[in-house]
Amino acid sequence: MIKINENFLKLQDSYLFSTIAKKVAEFQENNPDKKVIKLGIGDVTRPIPKAIADAMKNAVEEMENPNEFKGYGPEQGYEFLRNKIVENDYKKRGINIEIDEVFVSDGAKCDTGNIVDLFSKDNKVAITDPVYPVYLDTNVMSGRTGEYNDQTGMYDNIVYMPCNSENNFEPELPKQRPDMIYLCLPNNPTGTVLNKNQLKKWIDYAKENRSIILFDSAYEAFITQEDIPHSIYEIEGAKEVAIEFRSFSKTAGFTGIRCAYTVVPKELKAYTEKGEEISLNKLWNRRQCTKFNGVSYITQKGAEAVYSENGQKQIKENIEYYMENARIIREGLKKAGYETFGGINAPYIWLKTPNNMKSWDFFDELLTKYNIVGTPGVGFGPNGEGYFRLTAFGSRENTIEAMKRLSKL
Ligand code: PLP
Repeated sequence: MIKINENFLKLQDSYLFSTIAKKVAEFQENNPDKKVIKLGIGDVTRPIPKAIADAMKNAVEEMENPNEFKGYGPEQGYEFLRNKIVENDYKKRGINIEIDEVFVSDGAKCDTGNIVDLFSKDNKVAITDPVYPVYLDTNVMSGRTGEYNDQTGMYDNIVYMPCNSENNFEPELPKQRPDMIYLCLPNNPTGTVLNKNQLKKWIDYAKENRSIILFDSAYEAFITQEDIPHSIYEIEGAKEVAIEFRSFSKTAGFTGIRCAYTVVPKELKAYTEKGEEISLNKLWNRRQCTKFNGVSYITQKGAEAVYSENGQKQIKENIEYYMENARIIREGLKKAGYETFGGINAPYIWLKTPNNMKSWDFFDELLTKYNIVGTPGVGFGPNGEGYFRLTAFGSRENTIEAMKRLSKL
């Protein structure tokens, strides 16, 4: 009899975005004259910059040419791209990362999900709450959690680290020692960040406890403040305890093109049952070579162009466009009397619902009264209850219109 991985049965169906879509469709059907503004989903809306599109077109032409055609590429990514990553994302910030520590992939979602392959089922996992759901669900699938508790909205055997206005969205160092610690900074969904001193505490904690930090910096390109680290490796000692995940998705409009990378430093070690040190870089390389066949040449040529002079200028224009939207939302909400967080170093604005309203009640009110769609905070974890996420990825016109509506009522 064929048996399934029963851990999948522990997963909670994610109704978040499907419920939102259903509610919006229903409202729109009953109110066809109303213009609904969607500030809910975390996807880019501006097209890829010309420098990137041109590089990809050239790559397609190369593929047409019998002398330049390429088949399978290296599983870890082409050297031309990995060199650009090392030079631009690390060396320019004074960080020494070697090319064989960089693994190009088709997304940070896959990498943050696949990384669990390297770790024992016995490891204890710590996640922030609210959280980007991939970290949690991939550990559920691979058997690192207990059952889901309907009462608390939490899984057994996971260390939840609440992040809310009371702790200024800085997770506390867990009292119960975790092995794998997920940190997402700048954060999705809260849009908040930690500065270097705050992050240093985590490096020290991980060292002391022989834990590992899985650091997702998919939104680093949106950082505007000086003392906010773009990479965890800006902090001394991080190479011994952290894996970093980066993505071209939000940085350069690649959500539909698919390119990202993960840095696994050679200093980074984990242990066998007997306490023998093992290089995680080697394990990840082995895992990728076995299960992954690389990102398309055309895509990697596009990613390379992100680092060209024009590429940099053009992606900056898009990021500035989104961050101006973020400013408009922050200021608009403030004027309308809301308490807001984030939106300065990230394209997400996290707001406290008025009068401690439940996140979904606020969703309904925003949709029916103001015809604006956002994301209920509770969809990202129990500590998201009473909060709500708006994104800066809308058009300027819609963003301004949404804030006008909120300020009038
Ligand atoms: N990490 C975080 C925190 C995200 O919010 C997202 C996308 O929304 C991703 C990773 C996924 O990135 P990618 O498109 O590279 O898979």
